[in-house]
Amino acid sequence: MITPGHIAFDIDGVFANTMALFLEIARRDYGINHIRYEDITEYFLEECLDIDPEIIRVIINRILEGDFETELKPIDGAVEVLAEFAEAQPLLFVTARPQLSPIKEWVHRMLPLKPFGIEVIATGTFEGKADVLDARGIQYFVEDCLETCFMLSEHAITPILFRQPWNRSSPHPFREVGSWAEIRALVNLHSS
Ligand SMILES: [Mg+2]
Repeated sequence: MITPGHIAFDIDGVFANTMALFLEIARRDYGINHIRYEDITEYFLEECLDIDPEIIRVIINRILEGDFETELKPIDGAVEVLAEFAEAQPLLFVTARPQLSPIKEWVHRMLPLKPFGIEVIATGTFEGKADVLDARGIQYFVEDCLETCFMLSEHAITPILFRQPWNRSSPHPFREVGSWAEIRALVNLHSS
């Protein structure tokens, strides 16, 4: 069991259903209807999707800047479990996004009025996550990017891989979870 305060979370692909938003923007604004969620078999979209790389780049930039009309939805169960954690401990989210404010506002909108603080840190790089987690004494990090999991494990942080179609292609030694119910089951809220 993991002690609260020793675990932190990635946002895109773990808390936020960012790939579903990508597909929704592609459909609504670019008429791209033939891609399914399961087709996203690589973390870097241009490596797996039959979409003009320039359109991929534009959509990703729009997502990073919060420039879209449709909603960024949470992954099933995330809000309920995180709200429960937030009653017991401060929450830490660490994203490799370069821009903090759109995603920080989204996190606070999803988890309003929690008694303990909710901190959102944008590192701008994958490597930057290890330093942030290390400085805060975080031992476990829930992450959907397999390459980042390997990087974290080299820095003595235990990654927990959130299963997604884009992290299925390579073998790895990490614990996996497929839902927020599974994350909930790993944490002992009664210890500290
Ligand atoms: Mg992610």
